[in-house]
Amino acid sequence: MPNAPLPKELLRLLKLQLPQMLATLRRFVEAESPSLEKAAVDRCCSVIAREWTKHGTRVERMAQKQRGDILRITHAPSKSRPSGQLLVLGHYDTVYSSGTLQKIPFRVSAGKAYGPGVFDMKAGIVQALFALQALQQAEIPLSKRVVFLWTSDEEIGSEASRRLLEAEARRSDAVFVLEPSFGPRGLLKTSRRGVGKAELIVHGRASHAGLAPQEGINAIHELARQLARIEKWNDLRRGITINAGIIEGGTRTNVIPERARVVVDLRALRVSDMRSLEGRLRDLRPLQSGARLEITGGFDRPPLERKMSATLFACAKMLANQMNLSLGECTVGGGSDGNFTAALGIPTLDGLGAVGDGAHSSHEHVLINTMPARAALLAALLATN
Ligand SMILES: [Zn+2]
Repeated sequence: MPNAPLPKELLRLLKLQLPQMLATLRRFVEAESPSLEKAAVDRCCSVIAREWTKHGTRVERMAQKQRGDILRITHAPSKSRPSGQLLVLGHYDTVYSSGTLQKIPFRVSAGKAYGPGVFDMKAGIVQALFALQALQQAEIPLSKRVVFLWTSDEEIGSEASRRLLEAEARRSDAVFVLEPSFGPRGLLKTSRRGVGKAELIVHGRASHAGLAPQEGINAIHELARQLARIEKWNDLRRGITINAGIIEGGTRTNVIPERARVVVDLRALRVSDMRSLEGRLRDLRPLQSGARLEITGGFDRPPLERKMSATLFACAKMLANQMNLSLGECTVGGGSDGNFTAALGIPTLDGLGAVGDGAHSSHEHVLINTMPARAALLAALLATN
């Protein structure tokens, strides 16, 4: 258990740092980092690395071929041998292409800081940086090694960084994800739905719609019947959704189509539901004789089940109380890298980053005054776990 005044003391120190936090945030936001533009992302990587190097931590830059480089920063307790590891996880890529800054410059107005990627999630990285600085300044001994991992391709599915972040998570006792919190009260994301994508292609047989309809097998008709079936699997109460998002097929109205295709978005709140959805998809059989189904895909991000964050959330709530802050939680539909770490069985707490709104939009912003408390909360979590 922590000393009662620890979060309060951290908060006091961090409130004094707010101007520096904002200046750092500006530097990070002004280094644009679209996931798909390696040269730009790498430049941003250098800017972030420079700030962390100032803090006497070990900064490793892991070169990536196609995506931006990944930063791994290690803070080891100075005296004792570390008794484990904590992972602080985030991404510094954004969904905005280069040049967005000209349309949406970094600016501060009415207590909010605006700019591309400011909320999702550069402010989170700033908060982590100052959380570490506060721990050093207050000379709070940590019992565990802390690894900060800043990845560069989360917004496009984490294909390049997934193995690395999973390996780091396996070595850790807990994972703190600095994705944005939810809503103006800054709710933590204690459960996230798993997300997937599946493609269903129906192969039929082409024929003349007027002269030889009996020889055709209509792939579109077959696909429509399959979709009517799949649609019934939706179960909002259980957090299961299936959405046909793309559909195509056919060539001309007088031709019986030999091929039709649909791509569906899949989401589930429980690992068991994810498995059963994948099973049901694989078990689909054609309803028309002669038709053939080709089914590929499945879940890319498994669900983050609440049981994986319950203990850490209780701890965060207790620490927040000590700063006279009430901390809430929520379930969200979208996935993050926290879904991967939780699926490995590592306790994971997500949504610990900035408080604000408008992720992926032109009004993306963070509430400036919340930054010190969020940084203090992270610092206190690192000191307590
Ligand atoms: Zn994000």
